[in-house]
Formats: sequence, C-alpha cells, structure tokens
Amino acid sequence: MSAEKYEVVIGLEVHAQLNTKSKIFCDCRAEFGERPNTLTCPVCLGLPGALPVLNRDAVLKCVRLGQALGCDISPVSEFARKNYFYPDCPKNYQISMYDRPLCKNGSVVIETDGNTKKIGIERIHLEEDAGKLVHGIDGHSGIDFNRSGIPLAEIVTRPEISSAPEAVEFLRHLRQTVRYLDICDGDLEKGSLRCDVNISIMPGGSKTHGTRTEIKNLNSFRAVKAGIEFEIERQKDLIESGRKITKVTQLWDESEKRLIQMRGKEETSDYRYFPEPDLPPVMVDEFFIREAEAEMPELPDEKKRRFIEDYLLSEYEAGVLTVEKGLADYYEALVEETRDPKTSCHWVMREILGELNESAIAIEEFSLTPVMIAELISLAERGVINAPVAREVFLEMKSSGRSATEIVSERNLEQISSPDELEVMVDQVIADNQEEVERFRNGNPRLLGFFIGEAMNKSGGKANPRLLNEIFLKKLQDPD
Ligand code: ADP
Ligand code: MG
Ligand code: ZN
Repeated sequence: MSAEKYEVVIGLEVHAQLNTKSKIFCDCRAEFGERPNTLTCPVCLGLPGALPVLNRDAVLKCVRLGQALGCDISPVSEFARKNYFYPDCPKNYQISMYDRPLCKNGSVVIETDGNTKKIGIERIHLEEDAGKLVHGIDGHSGIDFNRSGIPLAEIVTRPEISSAPEAVEFLRHLRQTVRYLDICDGDLEKGSLRCDVNISIMPGGSKTHGTRTEIKNLNSFRAVKAGIEFEIERQKDLIESGRKITKVTQLWDESEKRLIQMRGKEETSDYRYFPEPDLPPVMVDEFFIREAEAEMPELPDEKKRRFIEDYLLSEYEAGVLTVEKGLADYYEALVEETRDPKTSCHWVMREILGELNESAIAIEEFSLTPVMIAELISLAERGVINAPVAREVFLEMKSSGRSATEIVSERNLEQISSPDELEVMVDQVIADNQEEVERFRNGNPRLLGFFIGEAMNKSGGKANPRLLNEIFLKKLQDPD
C-alpha cells in the first residue's frame, strides 16, 4: 500500500427510505409518486403547534438494520433539531438524531478481487425526509410535501474505504441487506437509497487524513464509481500543482460526467443542533430487541454459505442465487420438488435468469412456478425429451403458460430412443454423404458432429443424441 504515492480515504453517508406504512411523525401514508401534496397534514407540513408522535415501526426497522449490521443498539437515543433554511423544509429544522443515535459500532465485510475487508459503521440514526422541489413548471418551482416526513435511516461509515470499487461493493452489500430485511426497496435511481461520498487523499503511509470533500446526488452504482474516480484525480491535480484542497460539497453531473461545485461544506456548528423538545427520548428495551430479532431473516452471507454446504454449489453459483432473496426462495422451492440441487441451479442460472434479464422483470413477476419448472426438469432428466427440446418447451411454457407435459404430448416431442428407428436415420445420413464418410475414415474425426446434426434434423430435433453418437461410431468405424 505505502508504495502508492497517495492513499485514498472514503467514508459514506447513506440514506435509506424505510418502507413503513405511515410517516415517521404523523399518520399520513408514506408513499411517493401520488398526486403532489395529497399525503400531508399539519405535522408533515410543519405548521406551528403541530406535535410529532414517533412511529414505532420506523424504530423497529432501523433496529433490525442495526442488528443485521452488527451494531450496538442504544437503550436510550434522542432526536435533535438540525436547523437550516431551505424551501423543502418548512419548519426550518429537520428532526434527526445527533449525538445519541439509535445504532452504533457495526460493520460490513466486503470482498473485492478476492480480498475481504471489514468496513466499520460509525452509526445508524433515524430522521425525517424533506419535501421535494419540482422545478420547471412554467419557469416556476413547486414543492411536493408527500415525501416530507418519510422515515430515513442514515448509515454513516467510518473513513475506512480505500477505493471506488470498495465503495461500490459496500453499497451493493448494504442494498442487498435492506432488501433482504424488507425495510427499503434499495432503488438508487428512484432515490430510496441515497449515497453521499466523502473523499480525501494523503501521502502513502501517512497517518494524518487530508481535507475531505463531499459528493452528493450519486444515483447509481456507476455514478458512485465515476464520481469517486473523478474526485480522486481532481484532488491529486490540486496537490501536484501546489494548491490546497478546500472542504466543498459537489454534485455529480451524470450527463456531463463531471462534478459541479455546489457550496462550501457547512460545519456541524452551522446547524445549531439541540434536543427535540417535542419528543421524549427513544427507549429500546429487551422486549423490543427480541421483537426486532424475531423478524430477522437469514441474511445473504449466511444463505450463501448454506447453499455452498447443503447444495454443493460453487461460490459463484451460490453468490448469484442469493443476490435477491426472492430468487433464492424460488431456487429452494425448485430443489424441494426436484431433489436435484445441481440441475435446478443450472436451470435457474441459465434459463430463468436469462428470461428475467431479457424481459427486465423480477422473479416475483415470473409466470412459471417452481412446480412447473420441476416437471420440465423431470421430463428432461428421465430422458423423455432431449436437452434442446427441453429448452424449446421452456420457451413455449413461458409464452403459453401451459405445462411441460401438455406441450410435449400435444406436439409429440418425446425423444426418439428406439435403436431401430435411429439406425434407419443413421443409415440414410451415411448413404447421402459418402464423400464426408470417406474423409471421416481418412482421419477427420470432427465430421462426427456433422453426421449427428444431419440425423438430428431428420428426427425433427427429437433424437437421443447419446444413442446417435454410439450408432454412428459403430457404423462408421466398422462398416459391415
Ligand atoms: P459531518 O458531520 O461533517 O458529515 P461526520 O463525522 O458525520 O462529519 O463524517 C461524515 C463522513 O465523512 C463519514 O462517513 C466519515 O467516514 C467520513 N470522513 C471523515 N473523515 C474523512 C476523511 N478525512 N476522508 C474521507 N472521509 C472522511
Ligand atoms: Mg454527516
Ligand atoms: Zn402528515
């Protein structure tokens, strides 16, 4: 490491929109995308005199996130007022947690290029989202307060990330975790998961961190990577040319692929934090902890390890199958039917994932059930149909929704395994291709594939390829 001229230091602040039914301090529905300002009340509009009441479910979801990331859950935490003026924040302060956050001292283990590394989580706290400014209505701007008061969990890492790929891997892991926990949909594009990146560089081997800058508005993994790489280069150029790095906040401009300076970064003291007088401290007792734990699903890393051990899958296969909980559940339901983990894995990875990617749908939207796929696998494994036909039947099942057995019997797709029938085809192919037969016998073994292909065509694709192979070899090698 210290061979490098500069060391990069990165810390992330990630906001996850919690998918509670109602908002954090009122009972307005917590949904975004409805008609503007239809989901509001005096509390989330910040009208004077309106009093906040904490949504218990938001605390529960944040605690579960803390537990999943190995945090200490604070028995007592406290909301504070973070004062600032901005049109999307009518109270002129945001209710957030400050020096007494709900969760502290967690970690995430990431893997990049085969190396594992632990990234510390400083804290996770709860806060309310602000309204959303909508620009460009006849040159005017509007504010939609539907988003105001949606609960956010803010996850703050220690400055222990050392590169753009590590930052992306951390985020990918976090996104996977919130989705497994079913507390946030994890969509960066829609802003349900928002990532601010803090970056500094220092001479290789140094113990003193450099001045950091902040990037906001990174709404895809690609943007996070590009923004960080851009900023590292910018800071290197500044240092190399003898200039100073100043604490700034920048925005990533996705279309121009560059950073825009937004403002000098505010200091903590600018916010004049003080305890929120309208809310009592948040008390989390052991019953609450147990309630949160009770809903804890098997987490991605555990699931992956179990898939490797129980189903004898490779690291790669188990990783792919557990990216999404829904896909892992589908796979396990399929194995339950087929009792064949390896074959089931191949079907999910090749055909089903292929289909999901092509149609850009989630496994939850896939129309064929594990039972239907198991029936198809069984037909192929028992040799009733051959592999190419199985694939064709899969395509037809997708478009028609009918069962494999129905399709196979209606279209007469059963594999031809009768040696007599196959021999007739083989003899015909040999008779029709005397020249190739001669070349084969004179030391051109690769022509075998050509013969099998010809016979397969004659069978309408239904011949048993293994038997064809055997019969051809017998007839071509020792002609009678
Ligand atoms: P602030 O309140 O100013 O946002 P925090 O202490 O909350 O400061 O830190 C914000 C983020 O900045 C954290 O994710 C932390 O890891 C990161 N950070 C702190 N120091 C540095 C540094 N020198 N370089 C890069 N990131 C840093
Ligand atoms: Mg901060
Ligand atoms: Zn409200």
